[in-house]
Amino acid sequence: MREKIKLKIEINRARCNFGIAFDIDGVILRGRVPVGGSPQALRRLYLDSGELIVPYLFLTNGGGIPETKRAKELSELLGVNIMASQVVQGHSPFRNLLKKFENELIIATGKGDPALVMSEYGFKKVLSLEEFASYFESIDPVSQYKRWTTMPQSDRKEPAMPRYNVLSERIKAAFVVSDPVDWGRDIQVLCDVLRSGGLPGGANNNQPPLYFAADDLEYQAAFPSKRLGIGAFRIALESVFNRINPKRLECVTYGKPNPFVFKNAEVILSQLQSSSRQDHSKNNRVPGSHPFEMLYMIGDNPSVDVKGAQQAGHPWFSILTRTGVFQGKDNHAEFPADLVVDSVEEAVDYILKRECIELGA
Ligand SMILES: [Mg+2]
Repeated sequence: MREKIKLKIEINRARCNFGIAFDIDGVILRGRVPVGGSPQALRRLYLDSGELIVPYLFLTNGGGIPETKRAKELSELLGVNIMASQVVQGHSPFRNLLKKFENELIIATGKGDPALVMSEYGFKKVLSLEEFASYFESIDPVSQYKRWTTMPQSDRKEPAMPRYNVLSERIKAAFVVSDPVDWGRDIQVLCDVLRSGGLPGGANNNQPPLYFAADDLEYQAAFPSKRLGIGAFRIALESVFNRINPKRLECVTYGKPNPFVFKNAEVILSQLQSSSRQDHSKNNRVPGSHPFEMLYMIGDNPSVDVKGAQQAGHPWFSILTRTGVFQGKDNHAEFPADLVVDSVEEAVDYILKRECIELGA
């Protein structure tokens, strides 16, 4: 029996012409808790030895920590060995802007450690919006009323000398890396930066570029009803900015459902596919010789995951789970998925049966 399964695996490995992209929030995790049988579902994509057999990655609009850290965290929560290359976050494409801003002064905001994320991509002069704001006395006129803090009191220091000359050097770009923590301060400071050409306190019509890692209006976390996402923050900032500034806000948003996110995922999946075949098959790898016949996007958000897969077109196939944003009985009316299932476990079961892989049999 074991031999038969092994043989089947060998056959399928030689022609593993499909891959899977998993959304995280509402599909794999809710908060930090696995949902929908996600650990079991992922284990089926590996051999008992721990070797990856089905190329897969995580395609999330979330973020705030470097991909290396996120991969480690996911590995611990889900009990499988996840590589950093398998984690594509909303802000991952920011690294493509390195050429433009590598040595320029930029600011980054959002939960987690947005400045660290940008530094790891190679940006040399990054300040978190929090640090940047600390160099401008009274830039946030209500800061003394904010009793909450994200840092223990003992770790808080008086602002040191700025690492860069923020009073004379213009901010060249602003990045919203993940969900902002202090919307009030961030809207105020971003309006200051964007309306002053990058030097708060002044006035200049040249708005520095503004980039958002994603544009999700809502997402499903641990709380029973949906939470406001980075897209809600974008709307808030844009509404305020457009009321107080003669020129409308210009910004670029990344993340799903943007078709280039799916194109990028396809490239990463084929790298995973090739490296697996290069390591294990008797034949030498022939790059690009084996295009995917099917790529599955498993998500919980019709307007992000399903819409994105639909826009990307062939070879994407969308699977909608009921463990997150979508809770409907039937399919979604506006963005109907190719398949609706209760959980990610059911989705993986469907895929493996369809692709005739008998892992875990
Ligand atoms: Mg989701």
